Amino acid sequence: MPAELACFEERCRARYPITEVIYNCPRCGGLLEAVYGKPAQPAEELKTLWRARRGSNAPLDQSGVWRYREFLPFLSEYQGVVTLREGNTPLLEARQAARYGGLERLVFKHQGFNPTGSFKDNGMTCGVAQALRLGMTRVACVSTGNTSASMAAYSSAAGLQPVVFIPHGNIAYGKLAQALEYGARTLQVEANFDQILALVRQLAERIGIYLLNSMNPFRIEGQKTIMLEMMDQRDWRVPDWVVLPGGNLGNTSAFGKALREMRDLGLIGRLPRLAVIQAEGAAPFYDLLRAPDRSRLIAVEHPQTLATAIRIGDPVSWPKALYEVTCSGGVVEKVTEQEIADAKAIIGRCGIGCEPASAATLAGIRKLTAAGTIARDADVVAVLTGNVLKDPDYIYRYHTGALEAPDGTRIMPNFGNSPKVVPNDADLIAGLLSQ
Ligand SMILES: *Cc1c(COP(=O)(O)O)cnc(C)c1O
Ligand SMILES: [Zn+2]
Repeated sequence: MPAELACFEERCRARYPITEVIYNCPRCGGLLEAVYGKPAQPAEELKTLWRARRGSNAPLDQSGVWRYREFLPFLSEYQGVVTLREGNTPLLEARQAARYGGLERLVFKHQGFNPTGSFKDNGMTCGVAQALRLGMTRVACVSTGNTSASMAAYSSAAGLQPVVFIPHGNIAYGKLAQALEYGARTLQVEANFDQILALVRQLAERIGIYLLNSMNPFRIEGQKTIMLEMMDQRDWRVPDWVVLPGGNLGNTSAFGKALREMRDLGLIGRLPRLAVIQAEGAAPFYDLLRAPDRSRLIAVEHPQTLATAIRIGDPVSWPKALYEVTCSGGVVEKVTEQEIADAKAIIGRCGIGCEPASAATLAGIRKLTAAGTIARDADVVAVLTGNVLKDPDYIYRYHTGALEAPDGTRIMPNFGNSPKVVPNDADLIAGLLSQ
């Protein structure tokens, strides 16, 4: 079966050619997903092939995304693909974090090791490959975060013009700096996020820009490889839980789809359970799972959290994510700003480090083990989504006791580590260090 785009809505399921430039179902407005037939090779052959590619010097084989291209058959050929060697992220065991989370063992899959420092790279290499195949010369997103950093890098590397639209007066400088450095034309519009999205959609059609926003189904395809690579690294032993932060819920959708596809092809025998963690001030998906009616998500109008990567009030991929959490027997938890900040410091002390949104995972694990939802001896992989250097300002403020939650309450530096000023005196410093 050739690849197609399919509407995700069960009552519609309309199909469209894979080369149609659409972002939602033209018939019902539903989310789109890429569908295709099974790979020709049986499961064991795929596992051997993927393992062998790790020893190859061919750029596509060195990519932790395109190495698994049998699961990305939306392209008819792979010649034009641009890779920055995304993926290839480690599984890191963390004893102190395990203890803090109430577990005997805990392993982090650290997506912050990606070329631009977040898992957005896993998806963006695929989104840009589709833009190239469609003959587009410009790509765009509305973002001040990791999406714009990643899109700028991949599209520039591919010779496309990246255009980043940002809401006026609402800038995260750290990540925006990457977008500027990677050559994105950056337009600050005097409007809110939704208004800009409408504007960009109009422009996209009028002057031929390909949109690489969260609803782009090809980005989701690329993010599937995070789970493929994790299973490959674990020699296909299925964990009990995969824990991840939830913002727009694209990653939750991608992980669920990947795991189901692996199970359906016999690569794994069962599904791990997904645990999605949201910040308390931006937890519409948490609320949805507790609502009597799950047919409609109620958006949070003013989402609030210092974990800006998950400060999302109206997550676009919630229908897919709901399906995947349900299929996997998963759960959704929410955590406070204090819990995120402390968990992040613990991950730092393990020598690992991550950005604030990523630390929601460990904070969520601590709550879920305390509640008995996750067993102490469970086999758990937590996905750290972004690099520690994405948000240095947050770090410095936490350790010096100057970090404030969006509502103005002071975050306690429970695991703080502030620099001390000392005189130029060897005896005094020696005494201080021997304490
Ligand atoms: C984008 C992002 C998230 C949120 O992922 P979704 O797919 O939108 O749920 C979490 N952490 C980091 C670091 C991100 O960049
Ligand atoms: Zn539809």
